[in-house]
Amino acid sequence: MALDQATLDALLDTVRRFVRDRLVPLEARVAREDRIPEDVVAEMRSLGLFGMTIPEEFGGLGLNTEEECRVVMELGRTSPAFRSVIGTNNGIGSQGLVMDGTVQQKQHYLPKMASGEIIGSFALTEPGAGSDAGSLTTSAKARDGGFVINGTKRYITNAPHAQLFTVFARTDPSTSGSRGVSAFLVDAKAPGITLGPANRKMGQHGAHVCDVIFEDCRVPESALLGGQANLNKGFQTAMKTLDRGRLHIAALAVGCAERLIDDSVRYALERRQFGEAIAQFQLVQAMLADSRTEAYAAQCMVLDSARRRDAGEQVTMLASCSKLFATEMVGRVADRAVQIFGGAGYMEEYGIERFYRDVRLFRIYEGTSQIQQTVIARQMIRAAGD
Ligand SMILES: Cc1cc2nc3c(=O)[nH]c(=O)nc-3n(C[C@H](O)[C@H](O)[C@H](O)COP(=O)(O)OP(=O)(O)OC[C@H]3O[C@@H](n4cnc5c(N)ncnc54)[C@H](O)[C@@H]3O)c2cc1C
Repeated sequence: MALDQATLDALLDTVRRFVRDRLVPLEARVAREDRIPEDVVAEMRSLGLFGMTIPEEFGGLGLNTEEECRVVMELGRTSPAFRSVIGTNNGIGSQGLVMDGTVQQKQHYLPKMASGEIIGSFALTEPGAGSDAGSLTTSAKARDGGFVINGTKRYITNAPHAQLFTVFARTDPSTSGSRGVSAFLVDAKAPGITLGPANRKMGQHGAHVCDVIFEDCRVPESALLGGQANLNKGFQTAMKTLDRGRLHIAALAVGCAERLIDDSVRYALERRQFGEAIAQFQLVQAMLADSRTEAYAAQCMVLDSARRRDAGEQVTMLASCSKLFATEMVGRVADRAVQIFGGAGYMEEYGIERFYRDVRLFRIYEGTSQIQQTVIARQMIRAAGD
């Protein structure tokens, strides 16, 4: 543990109370207005939530993976749009910099990301390169001691609010796969960057996503993440970032499942049919029991993989197993919650249908379920060949 037990318990208790008292009451309003109130974002800043995974020397909380997952499980007990505000600064938007950035780059950006003064976004996906991210065509051509970036990035979380993009672009035009890609730290105000309109989404209203278009966007050589030593090695940076990110999303799925289970049990005890609470019916009990069992299994998987990562183990396969199981699991839990609520589960005012839509995304981003399956199988096959 990076924190002593008492400090971790205090942090978890603070986040639990913040979620219960501040965020849960705002869920319907945030979904309706598609906007998170600025005072809530300010409270997230003061709680240190933007810098959970950023090392203490750069102003963050420096949580290890297990601690991060435990906090994220608490944050999962409310609309995932709230988590999205701080998600990129703790995950894909900062971890490339934490893992592979130069000392100067870290000193320049990480303290501002930890405090939430700047928002970082991760720009990998393109219109023609989603699951096959290594086929990206955004180019970064060396010119006049710097680089010129051209291309379009798609579905970039927090892009409308970001001050910093970690952009993946091809620096070696003779390659077409994942080799020959570099990562760049690009100021969102750099000339040559335009943002598309915010995408209208199925769920997670309040969290914003849009295209980021680069047209002859000039960046200095110092923008190359990790410096010259990292030229053409950006794809490895992206993949390392995703190992931890996948555990973060799996933990979030566990948190959402816990919330849906609590809501389902409460409703099943309150709602009466045939003269008794529906919780007394064994067919309803079966749904509750299946959800409890699956959420418990996912929680164990996430915490075990996180601990192993913290102990220095390579957890690519376990992170994929955790993300695959936890995100599919929360889809089933949300579906059962709608069923337990009956007609009310389908109605906006109860909020269950909103979670049903919100959690759907977890099976798509940071690697679809099918991509997790291919990662797991590839690792199994490789291990069998060793
Ligand atoms: C709300 C939202 C936020 C996002 N935020 C970000 C972000 O911040 N930064 C970023 O870079 N990207 C982001 N993304 C992009 C996201 O990571 C991609 O959408 C995802 O990786 C899938 O790519 P795709 O949409 O192109 O689907 P495709 O790759 O076209 O996949 C379509 C289907 O084909 C399947 N498939 C593809 N290849 C294989 C294969 N080899 N074997 C089996 N099945 C396969 C997929 O599993 C899927 O079912 C976001 C997406 C969304 C929706």
